[in-house]
Amino acid sequence: MFDVAIIGAGVIGGMIARELSVYELKICMLEAENDVGRGSSSANSAIVHAGFDAKPGTLKARFNVEGSGMMERVCADLGVKYKKNGSIVVGFGEEDRKTLEELLERGRRNGVRELYIAEKEELHAMEPGLAEDADCALVAPTGAIVCPYELTFAAVGNAMDNGAELLLNFEAEKIEETGSGKDAYYTVEAKDGRKIEARNIVNSAGLYSDAIAEMAGCGTFKITPRRGEYMLLDKTSGNACSCTIFRTPTKMGKGILISPTVDGNLLLGPTSVNIDDKEDFSVTAEGLDRIIAQVRREMPKVNTGSVITSFCGLRAVGDTGDFIINNPKRGFFNAAAIESPGLTSSPAIARYVAELIRDSGLEMKKKDNYIATRRAYHWFRELDKEERNKVIAKEPEYGHVICRCENITEGEILNAIRQNPRATDIDGVKMRTRAQMGRCQGGFCGPHIVKMMAEFMGVPILSLTKKGKGSFMNIQKTK
Ligand SMILES: Cc1cc2nc3c(=O)[nH]c(=O)nc-3n(C[C@H](O)[C@H](O)[C@H](O)COP(=O)(O)OP(=O)(O)OC[C@H]3O[C@@H](n4cnc5c(N)ncnc54)[C@H](O)[C@@H]3O)c2cc1C
Repeated sequence: MFDVAIIGAGVIGGMIARELSVYELKICMLEAENDVGRGSSSANSAIVHAGFDAKPGTLKARFNVEGSGMMERVCADLGVKYKKNGSIVVGFGEEDRKTLEELLERGRRNGVRELYIAEKEELHAMEPGLAEDADCALVAPTGAIVCPYELTFAAVGNAMDNGAELLLNFEAEKIEETGSGKDAYYTVEAKDGRKIEARNIVNSAGLYSDAIAEMAGCGTFKITPRRGEYMLLDKTSGNACSCTIFRTPTKMGKGILISPTVDGNLLLGPTSVNIDDKEDFSVTAEGLDRIIAQVRREMPKVNTGSVITSFCGLRAVGDTGDFIINNPKRGFFNAAAIESPGLTSSPAIARYVAELIRDSGLEMKKKDNYIATRRAYHWFRELDKEERNKVIAKEPEYGHVICRCENITEGEILNAIRQNPRATDIDGVKMRTRAQMGRCQGGFCGPHIVKMMAEFMGVPILSLTKKGKGSFMNIQKTK
């Protein structure tokens, strides 16, 4: 019997598990996919928003500002890439200036520090690549960028290092409550028939959090998927700007942005279109055209031809206009409708959910042997030549480069298969190490990685998938 079962291991479920794993509790994370962080948490803009966008008084505003203040420390503890590069909302003309002034006022009411409006000369000195007629901008020096999937892996991994269990390919399909009062508990049944029992459930199932609430008998909200398409440019375009550059927002969101990533690429997007299908991750020609047109308008010299990949993330948009974080019935907690700024808010949401659980009566005693930190996936890459040579002398696999584009070694790939939460498929290795993320997108190193994984895991090559669910890398032997 678990004290808490968390349904959905994205950044929200992972952060909640990490927060709860400080205490003497038996915790499990139930994840439908073959790895953690495969939902919105791996396909987003990766921005730690300063907090001027959300409506004052909402949970979004509160947790955005709290989370933005916590993020640098959390990333340092968890070995996650983070950079305080600042963000600007660029204005063209008087209408935009009015919007910027409103955002400034809203940001101040939300408690965002250091916000101000920069005039043309300062703006162009900050970002020389901006279009000539950009004439003012809201500047948020506390804005930052982070690696969102590393954050998710690290939060889940840190919770596991502290005893939390992770059940993959566990798609919760049925929730039943037994007993009442102090003795009451839930049984969660997966699609494949596996069952677990838990006294408390946290619903952090992203796009499907409405279905999970429904299963528990408190389905009071609906989630609509909102598509966001992106283009990722290679590192030759990575220094087109230093800040994250937004246009003035609309009611559909914060608009298309231009942002460096923590790994030195340039990210363009997202689009914003409500759709019906929660599994439709397609990237459309129309969406990409819209991104290119807007980027050309704002930063005409960005080379959109240096695109190396495009992808789509789906925002889990609730029907209340705010995050839905509550305790609608005994032992059942929602952390639902966590659209943007959910990534930024994640540490603050986790702290709040832990408080809700404690307030509901669960005894939470701190562990004596809690592990607060974790080694970064990229520790080897950050060493100088002399330090690398010392590592290679002890562990020769760090001297063998597998991914030539990103310069990733066999040692780093093995680490991704060994460290919590272990990579179980090819994309799992890619997201943890960056092997296959460079210009050739895995054309060279992909087959090596498949072979290494099969050998390490002791499974046939034909059983390995790209991204779970039947996406086999090889279908038969040819010679
Ligand atoms: C296009 C886009 C841009 C964004 N940009 C930003 C940004 O720049 N900054 C920011 O702060 N936020 C941003 N966000 C928001 C942020 O990405 C999300 O708020 C955050 O990732 C939500 O995390 P989550 O854990 O709730 O959801 P998810 O990451 O979607 O995780 C939910 C998990 O639940 C699992 N699940 C679903 N159903 C079941 C089931 N039945 N049983 C078991 N598991 C299940 C899923 O497989 C998934 O892993 C953006 C989002 C999008 C889509």
